[in-house]
Amino acid sequence: MARAGRRVAVFEAEDTLGGGVRSAELTLPGFLHDVCSSVHPLVPGSPFFRQLPLGEHGLEMIHPPYPLAHPFDDGSAVLVSRSLDETAAGLGVDEDAYRKLLRPIVDGWGDLEDALLAPLVAAPKHPVALARFGLRAIRSAAGLARARFETDRARALLGGCAAHSMVPLEQSPTGAFGVVLLASAHLFGWPFPRGGAQKIADAMLSLLARLGGSAYPGEAVDSVDDLDSETVLCDVVPRELARIAGRRLPARYAAALRRFPHGPGAFKVDFALDGPIPWKAPECAQAGTVHLGGTLDEIAESERAPWQGRHAQRPFVLLAQHSRFDETRAPAGKHTAWTYCHVPNGSAVDMTARIEAQIERFAPGFRELVLGRSVMGPAVLESHNRNLVGGDLNAGAATFWRLIARPAPRPVPYRTPAEGVYLCSASTPPGGGVHGMCGYLAGRAALRDAL
Ligand SMILES: Cc1cc2nc3c(=O)[nH]c(=O)nc-3n(C[C@H](O)[C@H](O)[C@H](O)COP(=O)(O)OP(=O)(O)OC[C@H]3O[C@@H](n4cnc5c(N)ncnc54)[C@H](O)[C@@H]3O)c2cc1C
Repeated sequence: MARAGRRVAVFEAEDTLGGGVRSAELTLPGFLHDVCSSVHPLVPGSPFFRQLPLGEHGLEMIHPPYPLAHPFDDGSAVLVSRSLDETAAGLGVDEDAYRKLLRPIVDGWGDLEDALLAPLVAAPKHPVALARFGLRAIRSAAGLARARFETDRARALLGGCAAHSMVPLEQSPTGAFGVVLLASAHLFGWPFPRGGAQKIADAMLSLLARLGGSAYPGEAVDSVDDLDSETVLCDVVPRELARIAGRRLPARYAAALRRFPHGPGAFKVDFALDGPIPWKAPECAQAGTVHLGGTLDEIAESERAPWQGRHAQRPFVLLAQHSRFDETRAPAGKHTAWTYCHVPNGSAVDMTARIEAQIERFAPGFRELVLGRSVMGPAVLESHNRNLVGGDLNAGAATFWRLIARPAPRPVPYRTPAEGVYLCSASTPPGGGVHGMCGYLAGRAALRDAL
């Protein structure tokens, strides 16, 4: 909006700006942790972010030698490289199958990204490319992995990537999630900002200031009527939109917003460590992100559990080890680890011991390195950011239907029935993740309406 010459003011309820892209010394002095998001393939991968000169505003993305490692109990690991061929070569008899699944998506990304990073209901610019992608990938991750791959290793790799959706791996379109995330590793890498996720928000705020905009932390919006503006873009979850704009919305739409379903929550633990994580599979040390969950069956069980109100005994744990590649994150010789697993929405169960047991399983001796930990269950996460309802980091379940009707079935999901009021959070397409596309597409809709 500011780039289009509009006067922009950002009102943020919390005392620090950034929402899901903030960093803080959560454990001990000198240890810098990401409060929410931590690994950012869709910063280089976002058509919106690619237009912004964020490098001029202090953003430097670090690419670890390998985006991802997935270790197994036998002390081996699958490594995902920037190179699709190198990754395929590490998969043994599944080498060709991996290439066949990923190559068309990586090579055809130019035609696909407009459709995948936008509302699924919009008329795609390249319907043939989208249809081919659909035939290849829009099915359950468990089904896709078993149909395409023979080995446990390749199946587990796809399952781990699909588990980012927080949807049971037996459901469609989790296969597409997994494939797109793997493709993003080959296309863009899985980098993170030097100095913490906060640097993304800081760079955007610096650019906004240069364009004449301003930001006000500690200013919760309780009613859009309080804002002196003809156009209001709301980076809020649907039930919050109903609260702050309800008076201007038709009752049916407001009721749909209140009913909008949230998915499982995140249970997050950050560690300050006395040394690097002692991986049984040494190649894990080269990867920025490590998926701890063993086989596809184990990961599938872990992802099913929260939907059934259960807590997995051996949860699938997502781990990032920034300090190995970014010296600003910890004092010399010390390290950090960022981890979380999925739990039922709003769960109050402490998963710390189960997360630590999963790390210890693949890195014996880990526990002895722990100098400090920060534990954030769903309630604490929500207290840091009201968009994380019950710990749901996707701002709404990412089921097939809720990717289409996000937040409600409407031709332009960003435009609410109230004139001048738009929804621009991850509760709109394309959904969760740090890519800026929800805001970008909402902004474009608002600018079109203002013409
Ligand atoms: C633990 C965790 C790990 C994650 N890991 C990753 C990752 O590695 N990579 C990735 O890409 N994504 C990750 N995500 C997801 C990512 O952070 C979100 O999808 C993304 O931040 C959503 O952006 P958003 O603008 O919709 O909302 P947010 O970033 O949540 O911002 C919304 C802002 O609006 C403010 N707000 C809400 N209501 C009001 C109000 N009434 N008045 C004023 N202000 C209000 C909130 O305080 C918040 O600051 C993670 C999230 C969590 C919680």
